Amino acid sequence: MELCDRPIHALFAQRLAGETTAVEIVRSVLNRIGKMEPRLHAYITLTRDGMLENAEAADRRLADGVPLSPIDGMPLALKDIFCTQGIETTCGSRILKGFRPPYDATVVQRLKAKGLNLAGKTNMDEFAMGSSTENSAYAPTRNPWDLSRVPGGSSGGSAAAVAAGEALAALGTDTGGSIRQPCGFTSLVGLKPTYGRVSRYGMIAFASSLDQCGVMTRDTTDAALLLGLIAGHDPRDATSAVRPVPDYQAALGKDLKGKRIGLVREFQSWSGLQPAVAEAFSDNVDTLRALGAEVETVSLPSLEYAIAVYYILAPSEASSNLGRYDGVRFGPRTAGAKNMRQLFARTRQEGFGPEVKRRIMLGTFALSAGYYDAYYLRAMRIREMLRADFAKAFGQVDLIACPTSPAPAFKLGEKTGDPLLMYMVDAFTLPANLAGVPAVSVPGGFSPEGLPLGLQLMATHFAEGELLRAAHAFESATEHHRRRPELD
Ligand code: GLN
Repeated sequence: MELCDRPIHALFAQRLAGETTAVEIVRSVLNRIGKMEPRLHAYITLTRDGMLENAEAADRRLADGVPLSPIDGMPLALKDIFCTQGIETTCGSRILKGFRPPYDATVVQRLKAKGLNLAGKTNMDEFAMGSSTENSAYAPTRNPWDLSRVPGGSSGGSAAAVAAGEALAALGTDTGGSIRQPCGFTSLVGLKPTYGRVSRYGMIAFASSLDQCGVMTRDTTDAALLLGLIAGHDPRDATSAVRPVPDYQAALGKDLKGKRIGLVREFQSWSGLQPAVAEAFSDNVDTLRALGAEVETVSLPSLEYAIAVYYILAPSEASSNLGRYDGVRFGPRTAGAKNMRQLFARTRQEGFGPEVKRRIMLGTFALSAGYYDAYYLRAMRIREMLRADFAKAFGQVDLIACPTSPAPAFKLGEKTGDPLLMYMVDAFTLPANLAGVPAVSVPGGFSPEGLPLGLQLMATHFAEGELLRAAHAFESATEHHRRRPELD
């Protein structure tokens, strides 16, 4: 296995033992980028310059006994939704082409303080709207496990980069599944924290009551490590929680004795659930049982409305958040307009892709006088019911388990013609966003064609430690996370 394919904590142990250096690790990643990037298109912007110098500096710090953290000098990737000072940040959209933020997102600042060595900004569905990365205004990303398939979305570039060794780990965002689903499609660990656990300052807004930044890594130990570095209160984000950050790595244990795990009744008979996914999931449940968990069934009756509720609320919030892209304040402006209205309209006409326009129209409609009560308000009420369902379930069990997605990675182009088909892909992930609870996808096996499948675990608010502990126990009992895609 090459250096670029190993987890960060293992590389740190090797560096401490004098077996490798940050410079060697960076070379290995750069090599892989050179070989794979033309085929994958995981990145929108590569920031290769300076990476070797950063690694040298990290090696000196380690030699002096003062490394900033295990990520010091390690090549990581950031979804192109995070503002990076002086580095182009497009959010996958033409309307932000050329935008160089004058500041760093809080999560970027926090990683920089720990020695971040940025490999680049990763591709994504425009404004994080999508489940395949095909809505990127630039070009789609391909899945390293099968180049004819999507890596999932919207954080598909981050997932492809980490799965292919073009970065050691990445940050993504998850509004309805955009961390967990691509991690499931590429056999990575993807954790969406509790809403409010990680600052959203400097993270370009899609649907503010659902958006959350999280980590995409090779294993649960790296997930615990990275989450610990980015979590915690930020006075610049009013929704950020004032709560201490536990030591997530210390929480990792190897069994699940006495833990109660709930299987969701409503998901078991889900019409889109592929038999291969159901089979792998039932093996996953056997593993959880063998680790000492007590498995029972829970019911979340409002789940049947989750897709409908999400696709009213997320576009409503988006239609308001995206109002700021008018050709005046950010990015390109369409020339030749006769007045302000025309300037706004033409800039948006050219700057936004079809899915973003669809969401703005849906959201504007749902919020308009006369329809607000029938759509937005009703969706908000059902969201409360779903939250109550989760609260009740978490009174009964410690964790909820289900597949991450109803089917493995699909072919490029397979769902682009039918937005509803694309929306159905999120059935198992978006409930956690609506309820604000943390959820993780861990490698759960492979389909008969050799495509990765994810096991999803959810926990109650701020129980990331519990979630990681269970995910780690599962990972320790299985070999799925060790398998890497064949890249030749
Ligand atoms: N696929 C969902 C959507 O299109 C979720 C995207 C996300 O989590 N950013 O809205």
